[in-house]
Amino acid sequence: MSSRPVAAGGGRTDLDRLDQRRALRATAAEFVRREVAPHLQEWEDARSVPRELHAAAARQGLLGVSFSEDVGGEGGDLLDSIALQEGMFEAGASSGLMAALFTGGIALPHLSANGSAELVDRFVRPTLAGEKIGSLAVTEPGGGSDVARIRTTAVRDGDGYVVNGAKTFITSGVRADFVTTAVRTGPHDTAPGHSGISLLVIEKGAPGFRVDRVLTKMGWHCSDTAELSFVDVRVPVANLVGAENSGFSQIAEQFVVERIGLAVHAYGIAARSLALTAAYCRERETFGKPLIANQVVRHKLVEMHRQVWVARCYVRDTAARYVAGEEVTAEACLAKQTAVDCATYVCDQAVQLHGGTGYMHGTEVERHYRDARILPIGGGATEVLTDLAARLLGYAS
Ligand SMILES: Cc1cc2nc3c(=O)[nH]c(=O)nc-3n(C[C@H](O)[C@H](O)[C@H](O)COP(=O)(O)OP(=O)(O)OC[C@H]3O[C@@H](n4cnc5c(N)ncnc54)[C@H](O)[C@@H]3O)c2cc1C
Repeated sequence: MSSRPVAAGGGRTDLDRLDQRRALRATAAEFVRREVAPHLQEWEDARSVPRELHAAAARQGLLGVSFSEDVGGEGGDLLDSIALQEGMFEAGASSGLMAALFTGGIALPHLSANGSAELVDRFVRPTLAGEKIGSLAVTEPGGGSDVARIRTTAVRDGDGYVVNGAKTFITSGVRADFVTTAVRTGPHDTAPGHSGISLLVIEKGAPGFRVDRVLTKMGWHCSDTAELSFVDVRVPVANLVGAENSGFSQIAEQFVVERIGLAVHAYGIAARSLALTAAYCRERETFGKPLIANQVVRHKLVEMHRQVWVARCYVRDTAARYVAGEEVTAEACLAKQTAVDCATYVCDQAVQLHGGTGYMHGTEVERHYRDARILPIGGGATEVLTDLAARLLGYAS
């Protein structure tokens, strides 16, 4: 049985919030125009987003959206978070920027739902205030798709755990002050699998905890990504999130929101790429007429538009059903797939219609094209999510 809060009145019928969401979307877009767009290429080249941006986003009331006021958030739900994200993408935020700035969105939910008051005070509140940065570390060098097989161990020793292992591809892991880390607390040989996983908060500076490598990537350039290692790291028992061995269900519960979030990235960058491409096709002339005067070009733009709308409607509907308390694990997988297929097609066509300009470093559609490639992999590869949906929908043998 899920422990998540259900919005009064349900997401789809909660019309009172509509004006509030419009205002949030506008504020978020304005924030990007003012604080992000003028610097984004510089941050892409630096391979990092400045800490000050987190503080600025918090002051603007953006960082804590969808987190309860009880834990230092701004209140609201997943639909508010979607309104905010759509506004940011519309104004030119990149998927990498959103991953870096909102890593708290994947590092904190377990703590705010199941962590002690002390963990909330030490990690959730300062992160939502833009004073700390947190990461979520599940994936290991040996594999990311099969969460049940993680090998990083945490062995109880007095009032602490001793952690050994490694994590890779960790978003914001270079800058993170703390990492919500999936560890194996159940006996590894006798009980491998879902049952023996826990979540521990491990702080930067703990002896034996190191950022081993800063990873360079095809896209998401301004989002720092790290490989982490843990050698005999002592972590206080007080840093355990929820009950021992409850980590897998905590991770699975939050995956739904993470997948919907990545789906918003997908149709968000697709919608932005479409807007940029439509403007370019009006302006750019070939053979003595604007590109948009060609029927084949117009039809391409319409197909891009159609795919963005299909993805947006599916994802928003899935999110509204989630907020209303429905079980949407399968639909979240399929909505993500629909949105990432849309981004794959639309971002590719955006580069195509920009011609050589679209292939140039620094052109916005080129960035979205590269950023789009992580979306069918991160937060669950499409094949894995399709298989999960098959089981949940009763199409498995
Ligand atoms: C930029 C970036 C940021 C990330 N951020 C984080 C983060 O913050 N925290 C975190 O914990 N992880 C993070 N990840 C890890 C991400 O979630 C994993 O990469 C993803 O889950 C896939 O795991 P893997 O890379 O180990 O691929 P593998 O599990 O090795 O799978 C490789 C490929 O095989 C295919 N495949 C796998 N299993 C099956 C199957 N059963 N059937 C059919 N095909 C299959 C899929 O195509 C898959 O892409 C990030 C990754 C990247 C690249």
